[in-house]
Amino acid sequence: MSRLELLNVLDNLLKPNEVKDYCPNGLQVEGKLRIKTIVTGVTASQRLIDAAIEHQADAILVHHGYFWKGEPAVVTGMKQRRLKALLTNDINLYAYHLPIDIHPELGNNAQLGSLLGLVNSQPLTDIAPNGIVFKATLAEPVTQQALTEKISQVLGRTPLVEGDSNKLIQHVAWCSGGGQGFIDQAAAAGMDAFISGEVSEQTIHSAREQDIHYFACGHHATERYGAKAVGDYLARELGLDVRFIDIDNPA
Ligand SMILES: [Zn+2]
Repeated sequence: MSRLELLNVLDNLLKPNEVKDYCPNGLQVEGKLRIKTIVTGVTASQRLIDAAIEHQADAILVHHGYFWKGEPAVVTGMKQRRLKALLTNDINLYAYHLPIDIHPELGNNAQLGSLLGLVNSQPLTDIAPNGIVFKATLAEPVTQQALTEKISQVLGRTPLVEGDSNKLIQHVAWCSGGGQGFIDQAAAAGMDAFISGEVSEQTIHSAREQDIHYFACGHHATERYGAKAVGDYLARELGLDVRFIDIDNPA
């Protein structure tokens, strides 16, 4: 398919015009006209670009692309090397940030929820954009230890956990990536637990003083699933050759 046809498919699916974001969503770097092979990943890092080149990909699709609000506009250093590698190899870069977090089925939050067994999830109300924080109610209350074990098993890493280990958990809210600030809205909404990727110093105080369990599971680890799910959708619906490449990141 053509570069523009793929852009239209992705825009129709992810609806970037409906959210206010910190970066351009869609085609960020223009490459070759025809696209058959796509590499998906979390971040358009040099390692992912190198893997895409090795895989002879026509396009890369990521959650974290380039051109963030407030970053230096010049093309030097690390940014020059990344762009040079893409342009020299004629590889298209498609990036969708918040649209990949919030998509109701394929997004980071939706995918993370279903992997953790948080079924019948829905957006935690009144936070924009809709779907940036999800919530779900477990059929049976679970212990902090049980949820810790589930997260460790699903994500392949042990989360940082705060909260009263004797208090059971039934109502859970979550936001992938750097969503730790939403712990206050989760507590205000009466959630028993909040899950995010990153943690800040004050997140721990929020958890302690609002009596809410908190799990920091890693920015990368919680965002490995959205771009992958979108890629799987493209392979299924359009017959494209799509491969997800995980460039591990401990953060
Ligand atoms: Zn992120």
